[in-house]
Amino acid sequence: MTLYDYHAHTPRCGHADGPMEAYVERAIALGMSEFGFSEHSPWMIQDPGQWNCLKWDEVDDYVEDVKRLGERYDRTGSEGAFKVRLGLEADFVPSRVGIAREVFARYSWDYIIGSVHHVGFWCMPKTSEAEEFDKHNVDDVYELYFEVVRQMVRERFCDVIAHLDLPKKHGKRPTGGILRYVEPLIPEIKAAGMAVEINTSGEDSLGEEVYPAWDVIAALHGAGVPLLVNSDSHKPRQVGRYFTPTIARLREMGVKELVRFEKREAVGTGIG
Ligand SMILES: [Zn+2]
Ligand SMILES: [Zn+2]
Repeated sequence: MTLYDYHAHTPRCGHADGPMEAYVERAIALGMSEFGFSEHSPWMIQDPGQWNCLKWDEVDDYVEDVKRLGERYDRTGSEGAFKVRLGLEADFVPSRVGIAREVFARYSWDYIIGSVHHVGFWCMPKTSEAEEFDKHNVDDVYELYFEVVRQMVRERFCDVIAHLDLPKKHGKRPTGGILRYVEPLIPEIKAAGMAVEINTSGEDSLGEEVYPAWDVIAALHGAGVPLLVNSDSHKPRQVGRYFTPTIARLREMGVKELVRFEKREAVGTGIG
């Protein structure tokens, strides 16, 4: 089977560590045949003085760095083939979709991972902002978050939807479960031709589960939405985290195929 991991950051976002080479070498050591970077996009909402993503004048350098790694590590042939992929974790900010699309068109991305990180000025994944949850009704948080995700799907903003139930990160779940927020979106995700990542970083969060929840994964699979497994690494040792149990559980659920990307074209790949 083809093992690959498309969601990794670099020191350029200011909150990830380790040289880019170390991420690639970890992927090769794990027997992966592809590895992709997906740095945070420069139009992300930022607190003053706290830059958490690529700076506008670093996008060229980031793309060049990934290309250089491809020149160094790419291998062809039936034994040990390996490919470095160029991706972007693109924040969905409704008023910035135009500028985002310009950046999508300017470089030859292999895939765009679309994310909702903010509800209003609240950056949901930030541990330092976890106490925001105490100020709101948990169900309302999920409601508002998924409304932005819905807008992202309707815009057909990206190839892959990132960490679909991200508010789960801080361990608080809505009273009626998460699936009820996702179910109405599934036909739209399917119609938009988007894939959904199973983001294993959730296992290391207070949510103690991959994103999205397993009942959501089952519903997505049942509807024929393409899936892939990503680690959302911010350190080289996080590459491929929890892939073995996650892929084993997908197999048990009857998932036979995941999806890879090349120049923004989806390609099915068997998981055995
Ligand atoms: Zn990050
Ligand atoms: Zn993210």
